[in-house]
Amino acid sequence: MKKLVVITGAGSGFGYEMAKIFSENGHPLLLLDKRSDLDSLNVFENTIVRQVDVTKYDEFEKAVRDAEEIYGKTDLLLNNAGMMLLGNINNQDRSEWSKMFDVNVLAVLNGMQIVLDDMIERKGGTIINTSSIAGFKTFGNHSAYGATKYGVHCLTETTREEVSAHNVRVLLVSPGAAETELLSHTTSQDIKDGYNQWKQAMGGVSLDPKHVASSVYFMYNMPQEVSVREITIAATKQDA
Ligand code: NDP
Repeated sequence: MKKLVVITGAGSGFGYEMAKIFSENGHPLLLLDKRSDLDSLNVFENTIVRQVDVTKYDEFEKAVRDAEEIYGKTDLLLNNAGMMLLGNINNQDRSEWSKMFDVNVLAVLNGMQIVLDDMIERKGGTIINTSSIAGFKTFGNHSAYGATKYGVHCLTETTREEVSAHNVRVLLVSPGAAETELLSHTTSQDIKDGYNQWKQAMGGVSLDPKHVASSVYFMYNMPQEVSVREITIAATKQDA
């Protein structure tokens, strides 16, 4: 059997497509998501599905250790779970900032700490963190969300440098605007409408999540001694 792949935020969007491609290619999976309805994930072979909030270190760690008892050590962690609550700093509800920092930044650190010691010890393993084009370019209404994703760029590259000598890969995928449930959590209808109008103005920009999943699959399948450090992937018609 191939090696264990752990995917956070697997219940929807990019995470679901990542689960599909790794399962189709024979990997046992641990699929984590905080939503309760995860029936759509119960179709994959050799897969453990857990309702876990990855901002809670102990829950996250227990799920990983349980899966490792069955399938062996985690060879790939896809730190994908995230939340985008767009808003203006002058009037955005401050609780939205902490929700985003909790999942987009702190939960990514959680995942890395849970698997890194073992990866360093056995001199192998891969972590791929999901950032965004908003992790290196600014966009209106994205101050707090963008700050979380700039943070993901920083923590990924810093850790990559720190563990590179141990043959452990720490990589980044930075997608552009895609058709997932991500925007739906933004509370301002005006901002959501504006985002959709921006996509329409570019001719209906719509990056299919399956292409993000195949990019990640490609990164992982390079030999362990090769790091595709970052892939930025967006619809060709996306102008920003
Ligand atoms: P989705 O909202 O479709 O999927 C994200 C999944 O993560 C959801 O199932 C969500 O559950 C889950 N999740 C959120 N918080 C937690 C948590 N604390 N613990 C466990 N699971 C959690 O979004 P995408 O697939 O689009 O997003 C995946 C990643 O891609 C995110 O990091 C996002 O920032 C990034 N991204 C997305 C882009 C896009 O345009 N879609 C562009 C660039 C980057 P629930 O919905 O129940 O909260």
